[in-house]
Amino acid sequence: MRVDCFASGSGGNCYRLSDGETDILIECGIPKYKILSDIGYKVGRISGVLISHEHGDHAISAKDMIGWGLDVYASAGTFKALGLSGYHCKPAAHGEVFSVGTFSICPFDVQHDAAEPLGFVITSRVTRERVLFFTDTYYVKYVFRDVDIIMGECNYSLKTLRDDLPMNRRDRLFESHMSLEHFLDLLDSYPQVKKIYLLHLSDDNSDAEMFRREVQKKTGAQVYVCAAQGGFT
Ligand SMILES: [Zn+2]
Ligand SMILES: [Zn+2]
Repeated sequence: MRVDCFASGSGGNCYRLSDGETDILIECGIPKYKILSDIGYKVGRISGVLISHEHGDHAISAKDMIGWGLDVYASAGTFKALGLSGYHCKPAAHGEVFSVGTFSICPFDVQHDAAEPLGFVITSRVTRERVLFFTDTYYVKYVFRDVDIIMGECNYSLKTLRDDLPMNRRDRLFESHMSLEHFLDLLDSYPQVKKIYLLHLSDDNSDAEMFRREVQKKTGAQVYVCAAQGGFT
């Protein structure tokens, strides 16, 4: 399974997942021109776009994806919040499995201040690998079987929180984003995981090297930290 990061964080998110036969995008929260150059101008290679929720850093180019003729998969609540409808809007719901090319995808509900946010469990029928994707949620209430790869938000740590962070922003962070401490707890359920991609690190309240070290120490998995402007740090 190949994972590419085109952008990650509150400034925008976009990832590509490929099992060699099917390429999908997860999130389209960056300008369409950047997506186009990141995919090498090969829109026809993309089989679909998954969107977790309506916030701009995840969905700003959703309408453009539809304009390109791509099928977009998101919850009914997300489509409503984005004001999008029509043939290329494919409503996804918690627990209802669907296929995109050789991927089988199971959406699940997450905890965030958005209309109806989703995470995704994505299984390739080609490589037999299973990816757990979640972002913008302060915890994940389900445990999934046979996960090989985790792509998950690791936004801040209690150790790296800025002292001068206003109380209201602090409260919002605690109720809408994943901390390193919660991420490490979640890993208790996935001792077999082989690769971990840390997503959506906070600009102000994170420490990429420390996060990588802590996650690596806990699991022995290969750990990649997604960079804000794309690629890995
Ligand atoms: Zn976000
Ligand atoms: Zn959000």
